[in-house]
Amino acid sequence: MESVASFLKSEHPTALSFEILPPVRGGSIERTLDSIRPLMEFAPAYVNITTHRNEVTYNHVGGGSYRACTAQKRPGTVAIAALLRERFGVRPVPHIICGDYSRREIEDQLIDLSYLGITDVLALRGDRERNAATFTTSPDGHTHAASLATQICDFNNGRMSDGSTMTPPAQPFTFGVAGYPEKHEEAMNLHVDLQHLKAKVEGGASYIVTQMFFDNARFFDFVKRCREAGINVPIVPGIKPLTSLRQMSLLPRIFHIDFPTELSELLLRCKSDEEVRQLGIEWGARQATELKAANVPSIHFYAMHAAQSVAEIARRVY
Ligand code: FAD
Repeated sequence: MESVASFLKSEHPTALSFEILPPVRGGSIERTLDSIRPLMEFAPAYVNITTHRNEVTYNHVGGGSYRACTAQKRPGTVAIAALLRERFGVRPVPHIICGDYSRREIEDQLIDLSYLGITDVLALRGDRERNAATFTTSPDGHTHAASLATQICDFNNGRMSDGSTMTPPAQPFTFGVAGYPEKHEEAMNLHVDLQHLKAKVEGGASYIVTQMFFDNARFFDFVKRCREAGINVPIVPGIKPLTSLRQMSLLPRIFHIDFPTELSELLLRCKSDEEVRQLGIEWGARQATELKAANVPSIHFYAMHAAQSVAEIARRVY
């Protein structure tokens, strides 16, 4: 199978890709697979699977007492990657994150994936711990995605995390990284953020997938600024169909993005989740049509709770 990186660099009409989350611990994987089955009709070029850091939950143990329990809320990324390939024959792109993982644990994931022949990954720092003011990780972990990129390249070259050597894998990993058209929340400004993005590309990333945005002008401006900064790899726009009233405040808060004025005015007129869902399809189709006309290599749909809307958009646009 051709790598995602070479696919994105090749001549092709705008492809469709999407991202799913593993089920919450103990949840049904079949339900997740059922929800994305309708999207397979559009022959996705690849499917991303997110990875999540540990979360602390408080379990009631009786007598008014609670026990703190630290666990990954959504385990299973590597297994789901293998399952998607087996069930749907689709190229999986599991995410590798720095948060909570030591270099050795990341290496273990690379070894598992390498044995499975899954060598397309997205390399990310990962989110902060819930309610934490700053990002923290394992004492032997990476604090930035650029450093994770170095580890992946070292692995490709047969260098292990403890400095020892191994036979380089027959099929090296290729990876993408995240980019932020509206700037990452912690960056001083877009200029500095782009310098850090450039470091990730110079560190071996073959393409960029963007944070969601609702104003295509922000994306086109981001691409222009990347090119001016000397970042020349493919840039895949990420879009999310809106599905609920609560996303009006939730998405700007969590993802540090703005809704354009026209969309915000339309949203303010919505009285129910169903009205937002319809608007999300209209707006998403409008965004996707314009992006496709601009010949972007793929459109990355954030499909969580929105697979039906993504299918409706794909029906109209592809
Ligand atoms: P980095 O590239 O490390 O950047 C983080 C911040 O540090 C930026 O402000 C950057 O400007 C700055 N920075 C970078 N390098 C340096 C340096 N050397 N010195 C000082 N500052 C620096 N999160 C998850 O937990 N799991 C997922 O599966 C996941 N999937 C995602 C998929 C996509 C497409 C996107 C866009 C995001 C995803 N995220 C995921 C969220 C992401 O992990 C967070 O946005 C995170 O806060 C930043 O990750 P990053 O890889 O961009 O980090």
